[in-house]
Amino acid sequence: MQLDRTPTRYTTDVLVIGTGGAGLRAALALHDQGHRVLVLGKRPKADAHTVLAAGGINAALGSLDPQDSWAIHAADTLKEGRYLGDPRAIELLCREAPQAIDELVELGVPFAREADGRLSQRYFGAHRYRRTCFVGDYTGLEIIHALVRAVDARAIPILERVYVSDLLTVEGRVNGALGFRLEDGQPIVIQAGAVLLATGGHIHIYRRSSSRRRENTGDGMALAFGVGATLADMELVQFHPSGMVWPPELEGTLVTEAVRGEGGRLINTQGERFMARYDAERMELSTRDRVALANYTEIMAGRGTEHGGVWLDVSHLPAEVIEQRLPRMKEQFALVGVDITREPMEIAPTAHYSMGGIRVTPETHATEVPGLFAAGEAAAGVHGANRLGGNSLAEILVFGRIAAEHAAQFASEHPAPPLDETQIQRKLLRLSELSSLDGATQRALLEELQSVMWEDAGVVRTAEGLQHALEQLAQIKRRAEESPNGAADLPATLDLRSMLLTAEATVRAALLRTESRGAHQRADYPQTDPSWQRTILVLPHLTDEGPNTGLALATAELPEPSPEVVAAIDETEIEMAGRLVE
Ligand SMILES: Cc1cc2nc3c(=O)[nH]c(=O)nc-3n(C[C@H](O)[C@H](O)[C@H](O)COP(=O)(O)OP(=O)(O)OC[C@H]3O[C@@H](n4cnc5c(N)ncnc54)[C@H](O)[C@@H]3O)c2cc1C
Repeated sequence: MQLDRTPTRYTTDVLVIGTGGAGLRAALALHDQGHRVLVLGKRPKADAHTVLAAGGINAALGSLDPQDSWAIHAADTLKEGRYLGDPRAIELLCREAPQAIDELVELGVPFAREADGRLSQRYFGAHRYRRTCFVGDYTGLEIIHALVRAVDARAIPILERVYVSDLLTVEGRVNGALGFRLEDGQPIVIQAGAVLLATGGHIHIYRRSSSRRRENTGDGMALAFGVGATLADMELVQFHPSGMVWPPELEGTLVTEAVRGEGGRLINTQGERFMARYDAERMELSTRDRVALANYTEIMAGRGTEHGGVWLDVSHLPAEVIEQRLPRMKEQFALVGVDITREPMEIAPTAHYSMGGIRVTPETHATEVPGLFAAGEAAAGVHGANRLGGNSLAEILVFGRIAAEHAAQFASEHPAPPLDETQIQRKLLRLSELSSLDGATQRALLEELQSVMWEDAGVVRTAEGLQHALEQLAQIKRRAEESPNGAADLPATLDLRSMLLTAEATVRAALLRTESRGAHQRADYPQTDPSWQRTILVLPHLTDEGPNTGLALATAELPEPSPEVVAAIDETEIEMAGRLVE
């Protein structure tokens, strides 16, 4: 790292941090409305986490089911989120999602179509109607390719492989950011009228997660918290029922829900098709949280495999069906020597999605800190206690645009004050100190944190386990600070810093929520408690050097949905009563 060099400087109206779907959509909106925008990300621009999204994107287009409407989409989202989603954010999302699909079509995303040219839409779990648009099982990749093409065509400046380590402030207002180029450590300082965090989630705090290495380390949440923003719903982490468990380097890699959709059977080591015990009606097609809990329970009861998984088997299906319908999965397992046309897959739950994140005002996606906005998986609000599949891609496009519009408005009305050069020097000095810490020690502590979170704050939680996690996290934090100097790995050191904060926020909020609801399962509080239909907030306590260690929590009430959505909820529940176990 070359942090002693003079920083390279940039000035822009709005700085967008993150080149996933939310960041790129925001960049297009800003450019097309005549604002200067600079986008950056710590990965190559066409390789943000969004490329992993497979199954599709939701919008109540009614192309196959004309009875569908935005209000029914909102009702499904609220219900699947076990009424912890913010109705204002959900309603806006569901009203605006069809426009997001139109924009993507215009940008050239080759969505699947029916023979007569209508957009195809498929069922995803817990949707009342077919409303998921898709491009094979690589929807996210096609969306990113289309957005990158559009950004490049407009010559919007993008800095790739830049790690943002700090937000800059003057009198409590965000006016820029500081970071460094990953390839050579060159420091970078950006002055901006507003900053939009589109930095993704924090699920890498878990040893088993569907993220790739060094993705979803909660950086945006930690950056926002560090300048005084509130975090919300941090305990609400979605665990997908099926991630790979072996070999270790692929642990957590997603095994798509389509495997169960095509008829995959879950079997324990006693040869039982165990979903009969958990949801006899829907069996393997039960909801994500129920199947994840069932898999977890079997493994913990000693009916799991040698590597801590259960079997997911499609070998009873004709080989050609597997080749046609599950080609990616066939290839994914063939690479590790498993032929899924003849052998079962070994799988276990994997951390998949951050329902919580930075608290924003739903209509603007502004945080409580002037000049700071957030969108996409980094922000809280839409998904409550369980994300409805296909809603995240809709969210990143809808709120990427909306947050950009409001960030631009803020920047126009409040020109950026000059940067505080003393603050910049202090932060560069701190980075330089961190960059001398031994990288191997930091990486080892990071892995320790992931194991602690998986063991003590994972699929099923207890007060005892969560308390143990807090003690372990405090120790890891102390050891990280006392780490010896050595061959540096500054990105790992910074990832660990963000993960320590977001892990602690997750554990403290999970400890406070003394009930089970959706993805948050407490073995010591197995019932849903109506009095807990509240949001848990993690409040920033600022000192000169950033947030205190002991995080303070509070709770907030959720607003009522609009009458249209209340009507759709009732209707949904009546219609579903005969079809779904709830
Ligand atoms: C395997 C898989 C399948 C999925 N399938 C679907 C699906 O079918 N439908 C659906 O709706 N959702 C799906 N999801 C969820 C969805 O893909 C994500 O929630 C969504 O893509 C998040 O987009 P984003 O723009 O908010 O963030 P991301 O795509 O995560 O982008 C974050 C960006 O921030 C940058 N960044 C982060 N920290 C820093 C930093 N410190 N400095 C600089 N840059 C930084 C990253 O480099 C990246 O560019 C899936 C997720 C996975 C893992």
